[in-house]
Amino acid sequence: MASQKKLVLFSPDKTLANAIGIFVITSLFYFFGAALRLIDELSLFWPLNAVLAAVFVRNPFLNRALYYALCYCAMIVYDAFTASWGWQSLIINFSNMVFIITVARLLLRYSYQHSDNNWAVNAFNIFHFSLIGAILCSLVGALGSIDNFSDYPRLLPLYADWVSEQFSTGVLMLPCLLSAKWPDWSKIPPFRLSKLYPLVGLVVSLCASVAIGGAGSLAFPLPALIWCAIRYPLPVTALVTLLTGGTEIILVASSVISINADQPLLVNQMFSARLGIATIAICPLIVSVSVDAINQLIKQTSLRADFDYLTGVYSRSGLFETLKTERYPLAGQDKPTLCVMLLDIDFFKRINDNYGHECGDIVLASFATKLRQVVGDKGLVARMGGEEFVVVAGVENEAQGYALAERVRKSIELDSFRYQQESLYITVSVGLATASITRSPLLELFNELVHEADRNLYTSKRNGRNQTITSSAGPQDVSTSFQSAP
Ligand code: GH3
Ligand code: MG
Ligand code: MG
Repeated sequence: MASQKKLVLFSPDKTLANAIGIFVITSLFYFFGAALRLIDELSLFWPLNAVLAAVFVRNPFLNRALYYALCYCAMIVYDAFTASWGWQSLIINFSNMVFIITVARLLLRYSYQHSDNNWAVNAFNIFHFSLIGAILCSLVGALGSIDNFSDYPRLLPLYADWVSEQFSTGVLMLPCLLSAKWPDWSKIPPFRLSKLYPLVGLVVSLCASVAIGGAGSLAFPLPALIWCAIRYPLPVTALVTLLTGGTEIILVASSVISINADQPLLVNQMFSARLGIATIAICPLIVSVSVDAINQLIKQTSLRADFDYLTGVYSRSGLFETLKTERYPLAGQDKPTLCVMLLDIDFFKRINDNYGHECGDIVLASFATKLRQVVGDKGLVARMGGEEFVVVAGVENEAQGYALAERVRKSIELDSFRYQQESLYITVSVGLATASITRSPLLELFNELVHEADRNLYTSKRNGRNQTITSSAGPQDVSTSFQSAP
């Protein structure tokens, strides 16, 4: 996650740049919203409020009266140049600020954290905070829109339209704006045509909505959106949901999707359509965050199962899993012989008895580190259980395997382990087994060799410990017949 760059436009110590940025964004989206004015004086979409709320949530340091005032001024200046200037403009733009500040403050307080793990909460909070923001801001906006109090019959439809627009735009846009990130191109898997199937499903379901019509048709894209949520990451799902919801709203407003064919489009139908679309939009987000959470959990638990917590080397099951795969690194090394060495620390119980369990743990961890240092990239190290470890390495021949085992044994014998002020010396007994690599994966061969290595380990213990035993010769014979590394 840390490697993924966030979109950074603002910075805590650049007040002037922040001010200019806010002014430009406000003017730009004010223009965009004004260009979409279709129904009376109200815009079909008013994206400015959601955009600015997202800016304030993503940059908490901007939440100061200065920047709020700047937004408000930019709106009024824009209005003064393009539409009317007067108390109505002051009130209507104040209503925008009510949405922006309410939603930003609520999200910052209760939900948005600078971690990606909180999205399940975020998705729900965006839903009901947008509703609260919409209800409050529309109250101000609708009151500011009527010319005088004799105009009050217009108030309710205006209010309904305003609420539904602000709510649906918030629910559709905020997840997209808050989850947006620069894509990490190195992690994007290669393109496959099957990746596009959910999008094709989405287009087909939208076509079906147009062809069939009626209130239920708005829910037609939901299965395809959930499919997107399963296949794509959260930011992409949020974007696709925004585009689908936006398209549906446009199609309903322009009567291409006909909710009620017998009547012309009434405000309350648009109200219902928008609320329905916003409600549907939350589902793919929840699915997306749930899928993300499950994947993360699987990754964490398999990581926990594959590696030994105390020593950091492979666990027994982790080693088995690695040996099962074709991509086993030893095969890549192109060595003809597989060497399995079982190592059991001598009289380890005494360390626990004399110095305590905590010391035993430290010795085990240091032992594993030393083992990894000596083996390096020649092989894999795993903890089989207790104070018993295994090394699986690719070697040229048995002699090289023996030399590696002896190098490990001697380095343990010669080096001391530190515990508090004391130096502890330990030794290790090693049972070795080698065989030509004739097949892959290596698990089967490993299982055969580990039994043989175990028998040799037993012999090593019985013969007095601190020695390496192979099947081909006894320790004395071996040390004379094979050259062990210094
Ligand atoms: P031998 O030379 O015959 O191998 O003698 P040993 O004392 O090493 O053998 P034994 O198998 O009798 O004792 C192993 C001890 O390792 C017993 C157990 O308390 C200890 N042990 C196993 N796992 C851990 C661990 O995770 N931490 C600590 N501190 N001790 C452990
Ligand atoms: Mg032991
Ligand atoms: Mg043991």
